[in-house]
Amino acid sequence: MPQKPYRKVVEQHGCIVCGRVYNVFVLYNPAGRLVDFTVTDPGGKKIPNPDRPLVACYLHTEEQVKEALVKHYPGKAQEEEDE
Ligand SMILES: [Zn+2]
Repeated sequence: MPQKPYRKVVEQHGCIVCGRVYNVFVLYNPAGRLVDFTVTDPGGKKIPNPDRPLVACYLHTEEQVKEALVKHYPGKAQEEEDE
């Protein structure tokens, strides 16, 4: 039985802090779940996240990135704190 292929796509995602757009190379498994991703534009860095590709500029501090994450996904941050 041939396996369904993994899907490699180039998506554009904005920096979660300032919104600057980066090209992101994203790998999805046959079920459509995010497997891995790489920021292909210079100046952007990958923010490890199991659900969706997230990027931020290199110039932002870790704190800025964390604050932006909480702003964009408040429920998620709280869930993590509860555990
Ligand atoms: Zn930025």
